[in-house]
Amino acid sequence: MVGFWKRVKDTLLPPRCICCGEYVEKVGVCDNCWGGIKWISEPKCKICGQPIEDEICKYCIADENFFDRAVSVMVYEGLARHLILKFKDCEATLYASIFAKWLNRIIQDFLEEIDFIVPVPISFKRRFKRKYNQTELLCIELQKLSGLKYSPEILIKSKETAMQKSLNRERRRQNLRKSFSVNEKISIKDKVILLIDDVITTGATANACAELLKKAGASKVYVATVARVILKSTISNP
Ligand SMILES: [Zn+2]
Ligand SMILES: [Zn+2]
Repeated sequence: MVGFWKRVKDTLLPPRCICCGEYVEKVGVCDNCWGGIKWISEPKCKICGQPIEDEICKYCIADENFFDRAVSVMVYEGLARHLILKFKDCEATLYASIFAKWLNRIIQDFLEEIDFIVPVPISFKRRFKRKYNQTELLCIELQKLSGLKYSPEILIKSKETAMQKSLNRERRRQNLRKSFSVNEKISIKDKVILLIDDVITTGATANACAELLKKAGASKVYVATVARVILKSTISNP
């Protein structure tokens, strides 16, 4: 019956490419757009997942990472950036289901270790403005696909932070450390957490969340994001 209704729906509303709107067989990205996205594959940094020749990038060597490993589906530029912006803006449910499929593929290496999926929380104010946290939608879809336990109550946004873009790296760190907290009512001792976000930029947010989760007893923190910004300083000499 489900198949029947899907056929009816596909006839009345044929699936379109989420990038360009071209008709496609299955909901997702058409071949043309697929070729225009930089998908992240090997070689990449074993810790932060940046596509780079070295085993561990200069950024990860120099910096203290509290997360054990971060993985991302695509490089945040061009079409990928366009997709993420659309995801934040509208049609979030459709995008979440497609992005979750991609995320589910890149977490397979460590999926069996994971106890909880946790979204990077957004503030009440921003949530109110947007009506939802799109990262939560991603987690819900990922839970359906992976069978992992989704636990949005573990991490709490405790303080309204200034928009991060305008701050330098050290200020961002200080600011971030204070802006999240771990819910003490839920024990995460010796648990493995998969932190989900749409984009990883400098990794500072993921790192601040991972630091708190580790301090609260988590044994490992993995991070999975749909897209990641390539840090230019990692490629050229610092
Ligand atoms: Zn397309
Ligand atoms: Zn790295």
